[in-house]
Amino acid sequence: MRRIFIFLGPPGAGKGTQAEMFGAERGLPHISTGAMLRASMDAGTALGNKVKAIVDSGSLVSDTLMIDLIRDRILQSDCSHGFLLDGFPRTTPQAEALDVLLKETSEKIEAAVLFNISEEVLMSRLSARRTTENRADDTTETQLKRIKVYEEQTAPLINYYKEKSLLVSIDSDGTVDEVKSRLLNVFPLDSSATFPNTRSVSNQN
Ligand code: AMP
Repeated sequence: MRRIFIFLGPPGAGKGTQAEMFGAERGLPHISTGAMLRASMDAGTALGNKVKAIVDSGSLVSDTLMIDLIRDRILQSDCSHGFLLDGFPRTTPQAEALDVLLKETSEKIEAAVLFNISEEVLMSRLSARRTTENRADDTTETQLKRIKVYEEQTAPLINYYKEKSLLVSIDSDGTVDEVKSRLLNVFPLDSSATFPNTRSVSNQN
């Protein structure tokens, strides 16, 4: 049975960094749809050219296109033991499509990990990212748009996974190492257990 994780959270919550680390430590590919799209844009492929204006504006690429992208990606051989999705699903139709895909293979999502962050910390992280990463879709205007899009289209997934008892909430305020240790607290390295209940990890725990 493949181990399937979803990492959720607003842009700037640090989920990409944690996903990279978590995937590497467990030998699971870290599938970042944003990184896939940026690679296609940089390479000037047909897909890249098609999505460039949308990505640069901070809007979402169409569900159909993203679902096709993920359907192909998770069939690749490096996903034979599982995979970690970062940035997908981002809308309810995407989450439903993923459920349908996994139903076809009788597979289940192990956990949807939500990286919670206060607005204040989020804003200061995004401002730092503008200077360090120099991403074309990281202007102030685009970042604000991406947060709005997250709140409107992606945040409903929190309830979607909560209702399925798959949501695990991690307090993402703090250093990369602090967040990492909260994550490892919930998913210890030698753990093969599944996580059927909603739980929350924060500074207070
Ligand atoms: P990210 O690196 O995850 O923040 O994604 C960067 C951009 O890629 C987003 O702002 C969207 O334009 C696009 N994108 C990434 N993943 C998705 C998705 N699952 N659905 C729609 N658009 C996406």
